[in-house]
Amino acid sequence: MNILMAVSEAVPFAKTGGLADAVSALSLSLAKQGHTVKIVLPRYYHINRDTLRHLEGEMGVPMGGREEWSAVYAAALPGSAKKNPVEVYFIDHEQFFGRDGIYGVPSEPDFMDNPRRFTFFCRAVFQLCRKIRWYPDVFHAHDWPAALVPVFLKYRERGAPFEYAVSVLTIHNLGYQGIYHKDNFSYTNLDWSVFYSAGFDDWNMMNLLKAGLNSADKLNTVSPHYAWETQTSQHGFRLDGVLRSRSADYTGILNGIDTNIWNPKKDASIPRRYSAKDMAGKGAAKEALQKEFGLPLAPDVPVIGMVTRLTEQKGVGEVFGPAYGCAWSLCRDMDIQMVLLGSGEPWCENEVKSLSRRLSNFKAHIGYAEKESHLIEAGSDFFLMPSRYEPCGLNQMYSLAYGTLPIVRNTGGLADTVQNFNQETGEGTGFMFDDLTPLAIYNTVGWAVWAYYNRRDQIEAMRAAGMKENFSWDKSAKKYLEMYETALAVVHSR
Ligand code: ADP
Repeated sequence: MNILMAVSEAVPFAKTGGLADAVSALSLSLAKQGHTVKIVLPRYYHINRDTLRHLEGEMGVPMGGREEWSAVYAAALPGSAKKNPVEVYFIDHEQFFGRDGIYGVPSEPDFMDNPRRFTFFCRAVFQLCRKIRWYPDVFHAHDWPAALVPVFLKYRERGAPFEYAVSVLTIHNLGYQGIYHKDNFSYTNLDWSVFYSAGFDDWNMMNLLKAGLNSADKLNTVSPHYAWETQTSQHGFRLDGVLRSRSADYTGILNGIDTNIWNPKKDASIPRRYSAKDMAGKGAAKEALQKEFGLPLAPDVPVIGMVTRLTEQKGVGEVFGPAYGCAWSLCRDMDIQMVLLGSGEPWCENEVKSLSRRLSNFKAHIGYAEKESHLIEAGSDFFLMPSRYEPCGLNQMYSLAYGTLPIVRNTGGLADTVQNFNQETGEGTGFMFDDLTPLAIYNTVGWAVWAYYNRRDQIEAMRAAGMKENFSWDKSAKKYLEMYETALAVVHSR
């Protein structure tokens, strides 16, 4: 199968979140199974042209009654097999991408010309196929920046050479939809009747994701539970109706994790490697973690770790909200230690720093630190993720792989990957709660801490059960292939 990934970020070239990891890992896994995969990305300013291969000639992209000209570069995706590499193509356009930032910069978080930048990008995807004379069976678009790809396929490119191609749109986070003034629709060069037939209209604005969801042959999101939740008004971000209307074509496929990077048997960021059979390295990691964060070296006190963006989505208000959050009482009432690594909203960073000064058993580092995040996963006994919503979530899967028990809200991908503790049978891989309230978090952490001090054998059994789980990408890639095949079967039967 020929598969084209249209996406605004992919590791190691451009990353702001889990989307970048997912696309590269999925592509590598599909290529490993023998398929030809090409990724198309904008050539952002920070991606050095000198490290890329230049493709002969300029490429014209029709836009708003004129043509925009761009250069194209290429590189093999690191980690690709020599025999069947995943090629990454970079669309180079000085005016649209020759600046710092992917979607924006701190002073302008959502660039004013984003609808124009990403309309250009989506149209360029088709021109690129013509340029390299390679015609995919599947156009796989990700999130709102690529959502116009299914729209263009349906309303402009349905003829040769794309007559047998299908489109798939994956939602990595429904909270971001690309909603802009409808004047921007003129950049698409589509007829205004398409504005309504494809469902761009959103209270007199233009909603790019919504049009993509209406136009793609198949839709999915990154966990089965989130696929269900997004069809409810509580989690649907106003698009629950659209998703319900497409429920026959909409599924949830869990993201995998990179088991070469997140694996206690191979991890170079922890003092001593370990496995379910020999857990001594976990104790060494706990000691190193306590040292790193300046906590008393106490092997028998449970450590609760957090690595998170400090934003409302992650439930940090309920943990750290001044006079409201439960962190203070957790650390004062229970014999525990807590460590946090994260950055985000200023109020939360300030609160976390202040708690760190006032409490001897709570320590936080503000910032982004890959190596330290591995040490937290390995050295903690529990990992807290009280997310308001969580399309898939990676940290709870990392935790399970490292024998660290997740304490999570029963939502999205967390509900699919963590099994709640049953203290009668000892079964389970973590601790769960339903309501996002400081009290529910307090009580559930309390339950985990009680089990730590009173049910040690059950805790050890849960660690072992979690470490046995298989979250490999190969499993998820098979499900994506099934989705591609069902979509292709429909087109070929026409
Ligand atoms: P989201 O993409 O919504 O932030 P995920 O759990 O899907 O949440 O993925 C977050 C990823 O980013 C994880 O790999 C996590 O370890 C990493 N991460 C988040 N904050 C930090 C940080 N401050 N330092 C290091 N890694 C971080």
